[in-house]
Amino acid sequence: MIDALLPTYARAPLTFVKGQGSWLTEADGRRYLDLGAGIGVNALGHGHPALVAALTEQAATLWHTSNLYQIPQQAALAARLVDETFADTVFFTNSGTEACELAIKMTRRYWHDLGETDRVEIITFEGAFHGRSAAGIAATGSEKMTHGFAPLLPGFVQLPFGDHDALSAAITNKTAAILIEPIQGEGGIRAVPDQCLKGLRDICDEHGLLLIFDEVQCGRGRTGPLFAYQHDSVTPDVMTLAKALGNGIPIGAMCATERHAAALTPGTHGSTFGGNPLAAACATAVLDELIEGGVLDRAREVGEYLGTKLAAIASRCPEQVVEARGRGHLRALELREPVADLIDRCREEGVLVIQAGANILRFAPPLIVTREMIDEGLAVIERQIKS
Ligand code: PLP
Repeated sequence: MIDALLPTYARAPLTFVKGQGSWLTEADGRRYLDLGAGIGVNALGHGHPALVAALTEQAATLWHTSNLYQIPQQAALAARLVDETFADTVFFTNSGTEACELAIKMTRRYWHDLGETDRVEIITFEGAFHGRSAAGIAATGSEKMTHGFAPLLPGFVQLPFGDHDALSAAITNKTAAILIEPIQGEGGIRAVPDQCLKGLRDICDEHGLLLIFDEVQCGRGRTGPLFAYQHDSVTPDVMTLAKALGNGIPIGAMCATERHAAALTPGTHGSTFGGNPLAAACATAVLDELIEGGVLDRAREVGEYLGTKLAAIASRCPEQVVEARGRGHLRALELREPVADLIDRCREEGVLVIQAGANILRFAPPLIVTREMIDEGLAVIERQIKS
């Protein structure tokens, strides 16, 4: 008989009852060092006092009204994101998938309003992940994500990662946009080199295409700067966010330039929950801590430290490890063998890491993780790699 809880997840046999900082605790008191942070969500760790205060204050005051009414917390968060980014305007969603979905809808509407109704193709890349909705899986394109879900939403052209010739050949008078993660998350923590991002920007400028960066996983300080695009000189036209935006309170965002977002007039899109007072107040508190609270500044050095330590493991274990890669607090060790058992063994020793593809160990710890915790966690992981 099917479980009351639809069994779409292969869950680990762990039940946490409390979280504090970078640690999670089970009912019997066993503690685990959380180097996955809810898949890159808990940037400020668990139980952060400033976030608990913001949440409880807002919950005690007002947590949901409706987007039928003014929501000052949402307007304030949008203004902060506009200040911090290239964007002129922001729409709030409940998840990364919905933010990507809106970026896709907006692209279509933009070209529709220009009278170019054939321009409906969005270019994406092998290894991408843009969510599990009908548009999300079509954009993601992998067999794993799309198997059995045909017919897929048309309008996506998927190209190999890093194949410049394929890209040039794929641009036609049907191309509407390029959608890319500056650092692929689920695809194995693969950073797109700066010069390739510049190339994409040039192509988009030449043909008037939208350049959409999916920063759902790599944004919000995870790779160093507040947004991954700020590493380089390339600015997108549209950016999607979620995960660490609310540190676990469900909220996502689509940030866009006025030129492209102007097609989304009243009635063209909406959400019941998106950006409600509770979620928006929490997301603003996260931003306050990241910037004014100095978390981002302090995290940079620890992110580099994590990179150095992973590179050292890679060079000490050449028989097991192909390479260490990634940026800031979003990193990976690519192993020569599948990592599922290794992850189980680390868990038994109290260290949580996550997978990003069969052979990839992904590290997405809270930005508040310390050097000492990294040392402690990586000692376990290296020992398990060697065993
Ligand atoms: N885009 C990227 C790059 C992601 O990593 C994810 C989730 O892992 C999504 C979109 C989908 O976000 P969500 O699970 O919040 O719907």
